[in-house]
Amino acid sequence: MKTILSVVGARPQFIKHAPMQLQLQKHFRALTLHTGQHYDENMSKVFFEELGIPKPDFTCDIAGATTQGKQTALMLTAIEQVCMDEQPDALVIYGDTNSTLAAALVGAKMSIPLVHIEAGLRSFNRAMPEEVNRIVADEFSKMLFCPTETAIANLHKEGIQHEHIYRCGDVMCDMIQLIAPKVLPLVKEPYYFTTIHRPYNTDDPNRLLTILQALDRLGKKIIFSIHPRTLHRLSAFGIQKEQFERIQFIDPVGYLESVAYQKYADCVITDSGGIQKEAYMLKKQCITLRSETEWVETLADGWNTLVFDDLSKLKIALEQTPGAHNEFLYGDGRAAEEITGIMLKNL
Ligand code: UDP
Repeated sequence: MKTILSVVGARPQFIKHAPMQLQLQKHFRALTLHTGQHYDENMSKVFFEELGIPKPDFTCDIAGATTQGKQTALMLTAIEQVCMDEQPDALVIYGDTNSTLAAALVGAKMSIPLVHIEAGLRSFNRAMPEEVNRIVADEFSKMLFCPTETAIANLHKEGIQHEHIYRCGDVMCDMIQLIAPKVLPLVKEPYYFTTIHRPYNTDDPNRLLTILQALDRLGKKIIFSIHPRTLHRLSAFGIQKEQFERIQFIDPVGYLESVAYQKYADCVITDSGGIQKEAYMLKKQCITLRSETEWVETLADGWNTLVFDDLSKLKIALEQTPGAHNEFLYGDGRAAEEITGIMLKNL
């Protein structure tokens, strides 16, 4: 039996890994390494528990690594060691985090075939750490699983044209299809669901304050799931949460609750990559507080609207009614099965 090592480390990766691990373990010796990028209970452990993901076989200790470089270096060292010990036949990497980057570099240097899930996404904003991580991961991957045609076209434009580029839908769609029908409303009154954590929205105190003030003025309750990074910035900047009358800040929630909050919200307001997609899959209007997105398909027919510099456009965007919706844009909920089948054939 071939050995597959999946490398995960951040919240969205646990969610992508859940349906993959279920399939991988049917056909492979499917090991998991958790890099420790996200380690809080509610950013990590809760997902393993509620999504039934087996405990990671290996973990890295990156506590105390405060810069991107230190973090990536520690992960890289730990992933390399596990690869030397376990001799995996392939490394599975997800999305665009520092964990993805570290594993991609190890795979490339040790000539271990890399399987990139969520390949080909581009925001064309190289100031985003995620964009750099994606480019490196795609460049060195043997098998590239792209959720959309745009992603495939992006790879082609960069000269990545080999025969192992596949469109297989999106593994997050597998999860939404499984979970969304089961979740019940969590809030009685009408509300918008919000998450904000990208550096360009949180690292400048004025920007962060302006966003929160704009949200507070929208005239509806805001359920704001607060990422540890954003919480840290709020306290560092001395911004008191209590000053925002309509915003209810909540700790990060598990996946089921996140889907429930999105499903029953009047609109989702976010700068998250995954949530833009989930909102689309849930047929929910979304406003993205960014100047660009890698999930360009969600912008069609008003399902997702970009608002960045001029936050007064939030109100205008909220007044729009989205048009036609493509139910199968991100696949039919069987992406993980399809990806695993292709891996089995290729390895
Ligand atoms: N999410 C969650 N709990 C929360 C907020 C988000 O489970 O309190 C989920 C959300 O449903 C989506 C994923 O986390 O599946 C998105 O991750 P995140 O926004 O951290 O990262 P990004 O997608 O921007 O890389």
